[in-house]
Amino acid sequence: MVAGIEVIPLCDAVGPMGPSIRRPLQEIFPNAGPADWAGLNTAEWILHFHCYLLRDHSGRTVLVDTGIGGVDSPAASWAPVPGMLAAELAAVGVSPNDIDVVILTHLHSDHASGATTGGAPAFPSARYVLQRADADWAGGAMVEHVLRPLRELLHIIDGDAEILPGIQAIHTPGHTPGHQVVRLGDLVLTGDLVLHPVQLANPAVTYRYDDDPDQAAATRIAFLAELGQGFLGTAHFAEPFTPLATPPRQG
Ligand SMILES: [Zn+2]
Ligand SMILES: [Zn+2]
Repeated sequence: MVAGIEVIPLCDAVGPMGPSIRRPLQEIFPNAGPADWAGLNTAEWILHFHCYLLRDHSGRTVLVDTGIGGVDSPAASWAPVPGMLAAELAAVGVSPNDIDVVILTHLHSDHASGATTGGAPAFPSARYVLQRADADWAGGAMVEHVLRPLRELLHIIDGDAEILPGIQAIHTPGHTPGHQVVRLGDLVLTGDLVLHPVQLANPAVTYRYDDDPDQAAATRIAFLAELGQGFLGTAHFAEPFTPLATPPRQG
C-alpha cells in the first residue's frame, strides 16, 4: 500500500535480450566506469519485464505498462515472448475488462505490445494514457500493432498530468521523447527512466538504446535528485521495488 493505493507488481517475463540486440553490459552502458559497476553483478544481463497493477480506495484499477505481448509482438525479434501478463493478472483475480486505465510509460515494444491482442485492445474498458511526444514519434510496428487498434481508447496527454487522484504521470523525456513515469506518494514506477542498478550508482550512465542518451541522462539526474528518498518500481531490475536510501551519486 502506498498513499492508500494498493500496488501489485506483475512479472511479464524474465530473460536475456535476444541475439539481435544482445551485447556485453559495457557496450549497453557505454560510459559506465569500474567505480559505477562496483558491487553489481556484471555477468550477462537477465532482464525482468515488470508491469504494475494499482487499485485505489474506490476500486478503480490501473495498469502501468502492458509488457511484451503475444507471439506476434513487435518485440518477438529480441524479447522472451510470449509475455505472461494475462496469466499474472488472472492470478490476482483481475480480468482484462476490469482495467479502467492503462498508462503506457513509452512505446517500446516490451512495454506497450501487450496493449493489444489479436489486433484489438487487450483491455477494452480502459482508456490508454500516453504522451503525445511518443504517439508522434512512434513508427512502424508500434503504430500498426498498438496505436491503430487503440485509436478509440487513446487518452493523449502533453506533459505532467494527474491520471486519478494521487496517481500522477510525469513526462521524463530522453529514453523516448514521450517517456513518462508514474508517481504515487513516495513510489515512482520508472518505466525505462532507470534500466539497470548501474544507473542508480551513477545516474549519468547512458543506455545504448536510449532515443537521446544525453537527454535521458539529464532527465534521470534531475529527477532522482529531486525525488531524494523513496521507492522505485522498475521495469527491468530483478526485484520489483528498490528503496532509494541515499541520494544517488552524480557525475
Ligand atoms: Zn524502453
Ligand atoms: Zn524497457
